[in-house]
Amino acid sequence: MNFDKSKELYEDSVNYLPGGVDSPIRAFKPYPFFVEKAKGSKIFDVDGNEFIDYCLGYGPIIYGHANESIVEESRKQLELGTAYGVPSEKEIILAKEVIDRVPCAEMVRFCNSGTEATMSAIRLARGVTGKNKIIKFEGAYHGAHDAVLVKSGSGMAGKPDSPGVPEDATKNTILVPFNDEEAVTKIINDNKDDVACIIIEPIMGNIGCVPPRDGYLKFLREITAENNILLIFDEVITGFRLSKGGAQQHYHVTPDLVTFGKILGGGFPIGAIAGKREYIEQFAPSGSIYQAGTFSGNPVSINGGIAGLKLLTDKFYNDLHDKGEYLRNGMSDILTDLKLDFQINGVESMTQVYFTDNEVYDYDTAKLSDSKGFLKYFHTLLDNGVFIAPSQFECCFLSGQHSTEDLDKTLEAMEIAFKEL
Ligand SMILES: *Cc1c(COP(=O)(O)O)cnc(C)c1O
Repeated sequence: MNFDKSKELYEDSVNYLPGGVDSPIRAFKPYPFFVEKAKGSKIFDVDGNEFIDYCLGYGPIIYGHANESIVEESRKQLELGTAYGVPSEKEIILAKEVIDRVPCAEMVRFCNSGTEATMSAIRLARGVTGKNKIIKFEGAYHGAHDAVLVKSGSGMAGKPDSPGVPEDATKNTILVPFNDEEAVTKIINDNKDDVACIIIEPIMGNIGCVPPRDGYLKFLREITAENNILLIFDEVITGFRLSKGGAQQHYHVTPDLVTFGKILGGGFPIGAIAGKREYIEQFAPSGSIYQAGTFSGNPVSINGGIAGLKLLTDKFYNDLHDKGEYLRNGMSDILTDLKLDFQINGVESMTQVYFTDNEVYDYDTAKLSDSKGFLKYFHTLLDNGVFIAPSQFECCFLSGQHSTEDLDKTLEAMEIAFKEL
């Protein structure tokens, strides 16, 4: 495959954009491909190469790229204006749709990104409980704001994970290992009356794909309820991906608050905080907890979200989940044939492989994987027309547009990649 034009653009871009990109994960070595367009399950680069896309914009594009009905509806909205600064009826329509689908959602505040959503949800939890500490899980990603940019090291007051984040901003963030009941119990007991919330990705999607063990989310629901701690599900990935009502519907555990992003905008930028009315109502102006945004409830994103969610029917999810099974079964068969003892983690349309023979159930076990090997795997897949996120610690996603032919081609590429490891 020839990447000459991408190389040229990359060499130019590093002069103007830090690392040549607008978000760090996009900068893989030796240089990323530059996109020309994307359609359905495929993404096309400026050199004329075509890839089956499992990155899907890091999650949002469950509908497939440039979905026709979303494009059509969006075109109409563009004619009607793109930012108003006053409310519009469509915000009510999308809020009702979210409330219809999501068990914990009685009220919604729209914002512009997952980062904004988790930042505001944490502020809300602190505001309504009058407590300051928050518990998060090692390896969990909740966006790029200070309180959650915390270095791992369980059970300790958080140390900043980036220069520029003051210790004061992270000292109330406590890390615990995922899938560990004892650790959470101990932290809550040690910090009696100080913990405002537990924030969790119900399926860890930022260390690959790590599902909760049976009963773990239910345990968290119970211990938080007993201790006047709010349980926040960060469903920026799992929301509208795992099922109509997200991970909380899939696992039958209802949190107090939920955060959304990625899929909710139909492919346009969006975020949302939803949950129990008594909490969400505390946001200004009905309450006193500040939360605001110029583009919040942006008509293009809201309209895209309405058009997008229309496509996400029961049948859509059934088909999508079958594709996930098909892919994982295929991967598993190849690994068995090659006598390789790797871990394939996945739930429904989320999948990741770890190059280790250890079970992967938290951040420490995810780190046992050969992540250099993973980069080789990534490049072999790319050379064979398959684009996955360039990191062991990301997840592969499926869209409604991935065909059986796409999946079979992908499995062929994976077989080559596994053999070359
Ligand atoms: C992507 C992501 C975020 C951040 O969302 P942005 O829209 O990138 O700000 C937050 N939480 C989780 C679980 C995510 O995967």
